[in-house]
Amino acid sequence: MRRAAGLAGGVLFVMVSACGTGSDGAIDEQNVGSYSGSDEQDIGSDDQCDTSTPYAEGDFSFTYNLDSSLPDEWVDEFTTIMGNLSEWAPVPACVHDVPGMSSPMNIYAWNGAVENPFPERPDMRGASISGDGSETWMVLEISEDEFTYDALQRYSVIVHEYWHVYQLGLTRDNDAPIWLWEGGAKVAQEFYSQQEYGQSEFDNGLFPIVASGLSQPAAFEEYVDGDLDINYNTSAFMVLALAKELQEAQGLSEARAFEMILKEFQAAKLTEPDWKVAFAEIFSMTPEEFYATLDQYPTVASNEDWFEGDVLDVPSLMPSKDLTFTEVLSAFAS
Ligand SMILES: [Zn+2]
Repeated sequence: MRRAAGLAGGVLFVMVSACGTGSDGAIDEQNVGSYSGSDEQDIGSDDQCDTSTPYAEGDFSFTYNLDSSLPDEWVDEFTTIMGNLSEWAPVPACVHDVPGMSSPMNIYAWNGAVENPFPERPDMRGASISGDGSETWMVLEISEDEFTYDALQRYSVIVHEYWHVYQLGLTRDNDAPIWLWEGGAKVAQEFYSQQEYGQSEFDNGLFPIVASGLSQPAAFEEYVDGDLDINYNTSAFMVLALAKELQEAQGLSEARAFEMILKEFQAAKLTEPDWKVAFAEIFSMTPEEFYATLDQYPTVASNEDWFEGDVLDVPSLMPSKDLTFTEVLSAFAS
């Protein structure tokens, strides 16, 4: 089921994927809508959309709008990351079938120490893929704190938002369920960090994985409340738990389990738009059967001053330290 888009002042504004930003764990905004009109649009037959074949180089591209408030070091790393991702996970051709998608896609990035410097897009804040129905763009407001404290989030958020564009291409814009959409982007960004920077939030067990709310995992299917899922760590936990389940139940390698979750499940929704059916086909279990496995994980009181409440302590679910993003993305082929 699609979520309704908001109408403000007669102008349709949709936030495709608003994502947590900031080293303080704050979420600026959550998903409040999706593309309008995509239910009605004739998107053609599936054989026109081959997810294994990216468009030729140049067919889908990005325009970088990088404000001078950003450090040169960040700009250099941004360019490196975008180059790596376009090579490792080219945006699938189906992205052109997404209503409101246009190429090149503008990316607007700036240092949060300054006001949004792009007058043509005055409402931008935080990190998201946003659109107005005729155009879609990426927003990267990098929190000043992340430069001060050298937080890897200032780089990994680029991976997170790119991954949403990749997902849009894989699925022609079908983001259900949210825990696999956002959890997938979160896991992708942490695998990238682990490979390129030798560290990631896996190292601290994805703290905090908020425990409240997990008694009803289905609550993470359509809308993820920021208080229940700070920076999508709980959604990412569910992805890690699913990967473990696939390894144990089906004997898949670790890399292959993550690849199926990140790529094949999303791509399966092209031919089977009902995500629960696609889930059962790809993972050989129903979502409900998977959810029933989650109560095995221990809940403890937070031992960090800045977060009060119960969290999940699941070090055994963290991916192998030497597993790289590129191994995950090419597991089937290798
Ligand atoms: Zn996101």
